[in-house]
Amino acid sequence: MSTYVQDFADGSMAQKDLLGGKGANLAEMTRLGLPVPPGFTITTDACRYYLRTGKVPTDLRVEVTQAIRRLEDTMNRRLGDFHEPLLVSVRSGAKFSMPGMMETVLNIGLNDASVQGLAEQAGDERFAWDSYRRLVQMFGKTVLGIEGDVFAEELDAAKAAAGAASDTDLDADALRALTVRFKEIVREQTGRDFPQHPREQLDLAIVAVLESWNTERARLYRRRERIPHDIGTAVNVCTMVFGNLGDRSGTGVAFTRDPATGQPGDYGDYLRNAQGEDVVAGIRNTLPLAALEEVDPDVYNELRGVMRRLEMHYRDLCDVEFTVEEGKLWMLQTRVGKRTAPAAFRIAAELEAEHLITLDEALMRVSGDQLSQLMFPQFDRKAAAKATLLTRAMAASPGAAVGRCVFDSQTAHDWAERGEDVILVRRETNPDDLQGMIAAVGVLTARGGKTSHAAVVARGMGLTCVVGAEALDVDPAARRMTVDTASGVVEVVEGDVVAIDGATGEVFLGAVPVVPSPVTTYLTDGVDAALADAGEGDAAESLQALVLAVDRLLRHADEARRLRVKANADTGEDAHRARALGAEGIGLARTEHMFLGERRVLVERIILARDDAERDAALAELLPLQRQDFTELLQEMDGLTSTIRLIDPPLHEFLPDLTELSVRVALAEERGESSPEHSHDLEVLAAVRRMHEANPMLGLRGVRLGLVVPGLFGLQIRAVCEAWADLRAKGKDPRPEIMVPLVASVMELHLVRDVATAIMAEVSAERGAACEIPVGVMIELPRAALTAERIAEAADFFSFGTNDLTQTTWGFSRDDVEGAFFAQYTANGVLTVSPFESLDLRGVGRLVDIAVTDARAVKPDLPIGVCGEHGGDPESIHFFHSVGLDYVSCSPFRVPVARLEAGRAAISAVGHSDSR
Ligand code: ADP
Ligand code: MG
Ligand code: MG
Repeated sequence: MSTYVQDFADGSMAQKDLLGGKGANLAEMTRLGLPVPPGFTITTDACRYYLRTGKVPTDLRVEVTQAIRRLEDTMNRRLGDFHEPLLVSVRSGAKFSMPGMMETVLNIGLNDASVQGLAEQAGDERFAWDSYRRLVQMFGKTVLGIEGDVFAEELDAAKAAAGAASDTDLDADALRALTVRFKEIVREQTGRDFPQHPREQLDLAIVAVLESWNTERARLYRRRERIPHDIGTAVNVCTMVFGNLGDRSGTGVAFTRDPATGQPGDYGDYLRNAQGEDVVAGIRNTLPLAALEEVDPDVYNELRGVMRRLEMHYRDLCDVEFTVEEGKLWMLQTRVGKRTAPAAFRIAAELEAEHLITLDEALMRVSGDQLSQLMFPQFDRKAAAKATLLTRAMAASPGAAVGRCVFDSQTAHDWAERGEDVILVRRETNPDDLQGMIAAVGVLTARGGKTSHAAVVARGMGLTCVVGAEALDVDPAARRMTVDTASGVVEVVEGDVVAIDGATGEVFLGAVPVVPSPVTTYLTDGVDAALADAGEGDAAESLQALVLAVDRLLRHADEARRLRVKANADTGEDAHRARALGAEGIGLARTEHMFLGERRVLVERIILARDDAERDAALAELLPLQRQDFTELLQEMDGLTSTIRLIDPPLHEFLPDLTELSVRVALAEERGESSPEHSHDLEVLAAVRRMHEANPMLGLRGVRLGLVVPGLFGLQIRAVCEAWADLRAKGKDPRPEIMVPLVASVMELHLVRDVATAIMAEVSAERGAACEIPVGVMIELPRAALTAERIAEAADFFSFGTNDLTQTTWGFSRDDVEGAFFAQYTANGVLTVSPFESLDLRGVGRLVDIAVTDARAVKPDLPIGVCGEHGGDPESIHFFHSVGLDYVSCSPFRVPVARLEAGRAAISAVGHSDSR
C-alpha cells in the first residue's frame, strides 16, 4: 500500500488536501473518462515531510519507482529508452492555485541517447531536438537555478544567426547546436554536466518542486492570499504529450465562459506547434480559440464537448489547459476558474437561471468585496494605460477620482465651494482635515496604511483614497509635491490635475476619464434607471446581465438574512443616502460634529462657565440647534429606528490647540497687550491646560464627560425628546433611541438613565404625549462586556462599539500604532489583518460572545447590534450572525455589501452543501 504516491486513475477531486488542486482535478478528469495523459501524484504528505526534515521520505524513492514502472507498462515505453522513450513532466500543484509561483519541468527523460529514440519514434528530428533544448533550458532554470535570461539570450542569438523570426523557424541542426550550447551553459554555470540519467533528472525535479514551496515570492504570495504556509504542495508526474509536433499540433488555454465579463461561450487562446509554457510566456502571438475550429474542427468539437462536460460536472466556470498532438486532444489541467467581480455575479446568476445551481449556491459564489468593487466609478483602463503614472501606493478606498491638487483643508473647502473638484493631498490627515476631506473628491496621503485616519474616514465616506504614497515629497507650506518617476523628477503644484485610483493605488498626472458604475445607479434608483442609457451591443448586453444578476442575488440575500442592516449616519443627507441603499434604520448617529464649526464657541462657553447661569445660557443656545439636527435625521428615517449616541470624544477636542494658544498668549504678553481678546485667551488657555490629558483616549470622554459636565447630556436628551414630540405632532413616526457611550459600570448607566427619565417625564407633560425613548448602551470596554449581565438590567439595547473595544482589548490606540508598527506586525505574522479592519475573533470576538450570552441570560429579548467599521466587514458580519446579533450598522456605502454578506452568513450557517 502506497503512502506517498497515487495514480491519477485512483483519485478524485475530493482529495485536494492530499493531491493539491491540479492533482485532484487531473484525477477527476481521468475518472470522468476524459483524455488525460496517465500519471501519478506525489502527495502533500511527502512535501510536509520534506519541509519538516529537509529530506525526501525514504519510502518515496521506492514508490516512485513502482509508479514509473506502472506508467511504463501502460504506455509501453521506457524512461530513457534508446528507441521509444517515455517522457514525463514534473508539475507543482498546491491545494490553492498559486499562479506562476512554483515550478514545472517538461520533457524529463530526454538525454543524448533518448533524443535519437524520440526522433525515430516521431519521425521528426527537429521536434526531438526542440524538446531536448526545452528540457535543458527549463531544467537549468528551475532545477539548477540558472538565470533564465542566459538561455533566452542564446535562443535569440540562434534565431538571429539563422535569420529566423520565431523559434518554430529553427531547423533540426540549429536546435541541436542550441542544445549543445545550453548544455555548455549548464556546465559553465554549475560546474557539472547536465544530468543524463532520467531517474536523476526526475528526482532532482521533484526536489526542486518541493523546494519551490518556500521561495520568497511563494511565501509572499501566500501571506497576501492568506494561504497557510504548512499545507505544502503536491508534485504531479504526467506523461508528456507533444504540441510541438508540427502544425497539426498545438497547445492552449480556455475558459468555459468569459472570466472578465462572465459572458457565456468558450473563450481562450491557442498556439500552433508549441509546448504548454509558450502560451503563458507570450513568446509568440496566440490565436483566439475560434481559430482552432478552422485548423481542426474535430478537435475543436471534442474540446467543446469536454468543456461543456466539465462545466456541468463542476457546476461552475472552469478553465482548462490542453494540448493537441497530431490531431489528438489531451487535457492537462482544469479547475474552477478565477473571475472578476462582474463575471462572478453574472456567472452565478446565469448558472442558477440554467438550473445548474440553486439560488443559495449562487449567492455563495459572490462576495461583499466583489459587490463593493462594482459600486465605485472606475477609470477607463485603456486611457489609464496611456496616462503618466506618478506612483503606485496603497489602495485604501476604492473609486476613481480626478481633481485639482490642494494641500490643505481650507483650500479644499474654498475651491469646492466654487465648484472645483479637488484632490486633497496631505502627508497624513487628522481629524482637522475632515472638512477638507468632505469637500474633496479624493484623498491622497504620503504616509499611513490601510487603516490610517485618511483610509478609515475615506472608506466610511465612500471617498476615493490612496495612502502611503512614500514616493511623494509633499510640501504643504510651498503648496506642492515632487515625485521621482522613471522619467525624471516631476513637480506638481497646487491646482494641477491628478487622478487617483483607489482600487489599484495608482496616482496619475492629469485627468483620466472615468466610467460611472451602473451597479450604484441600480442600488439607489433601481433596475430601470441603471439600464436607462445602456446603449446597444455587447457592452450593453453585459451591463444588463450584470445589473440583473446583482438584483437577483441581492434580493435573495435580503430574503435569506436574519441580521438587519442599519447605517451609521450623522446628518439628514447621510440618512437619506443610507435609506436609498437599503438601510433599515440608523445604528449610530454621532453627535460630536454637531458641536464643531460655529457651535464650537458655545461648547467653549459651557466648559468655561463660571457659574450655572452662564452654562445654562450656553446650553439653551445649543438646544434649538441640536433639536434641528435630530429633527432632520429622524425625518429621513421616518418609521425606522435611529440610535443617537450622546457626545463621545474628549472635551479638549472642542477647545483650541494648546501649543497654538500658548504661542498666541506669549506673543501678546510680550507686546504687553491687555485687550478683552487677550484676557479671554488667558482664560481659555487655563482651561485647556486644566483639561490637557496625557492619554485622551482613556481620559475624560463618553459617559464620564456627560456625568462631569452638568447639563451636557441633558441638553442632548432634551433635544431628542423635543424633536420626537415635534415630529409626532406633525403625524410622523419618529423612532429615536438614546445610546450612552463608553460605559464601564452599570452605575454610570443608571445615572444617565435617571436624567433621561426625568426629561422624558417633563417633555411628556409639556407636550401631552407619552415620551418613552429607549435608552441603551454602547458596549465598547472590556469591563462592560464582562459585566454585561448587570448592565443589561439597566439597558433597553446593546450596541457593540467594536473600534473602541478593539483598542481597549489590545491596548492599542489606533492612531498611534497603525503607522508605527502595523506594517512590521503584518510582515512578521503577529497580525494577518488589522484588527480594526476585520474583527479579532479570538480576543474581541470572545468578549462580544460573552456579553451576548450573559446579557441574554437575564434579558432574552434584548436587542443587540454592532456599529462601527466591522459592521460592514464581510468576515466580521458572519461572526455577528453566528453569535446571534440582531443587526449590524455600517457606513451607508457598505449597506448593500452588508446585506449581501448577511444573506450569505444565514445560508452558510444552515449547512450549505457546496461540495455536491
Ligand atoms: P502551471 O501551474 O504554471 O500552469 P503546469 O504544471 O500546468 O504549470 O505546466 C506548465 C505548462 O506545461 C502548462 O501549459 C501545461 O499544460 C504544460 N504541461 C504540463 N505537463 C505537460 C505534459 N505532460 N505534456 C504536455 N504539456 C504539459
Ligand atoms: Mg497549468
Ligand atoms: Mg467609542
